[in-house]
Amino acid sequence: MRKSRCALCGGEMKPGKTTFTVDLGFGVVVVRGVPAMVCEQCGEEWMKEETAETLERIVDEARGRHAMIEVAQYEDIKKAS
Ligand SMILES: [Zn+2]
Repeated sequence: MRKSRCALCGGEMKPGKTTFTVDLGFGVVVVRGVPAMVCEQCGEEWMKEETAETLERIVDEARGRHAMIEVAQYEDIKKAS
């Protein structure tokens, strides 16, 4: 298996955790503990497609509830689904 390389700077990617934030206009959604590959050199974060899809679902739910502030823990959501 070849090493993951950052598409921006070519640095080595290491698995890590990140905090995902999205501003919906009427409110903000924050998801903590999101698994991501983080570039050692420039700090750019890359998410797997399935991770992005899970986040999209969280955002959709928050949008439906019109939550002003929604703070979620990624692992809790994965367990619940
Ligand atoms: Zn990089």
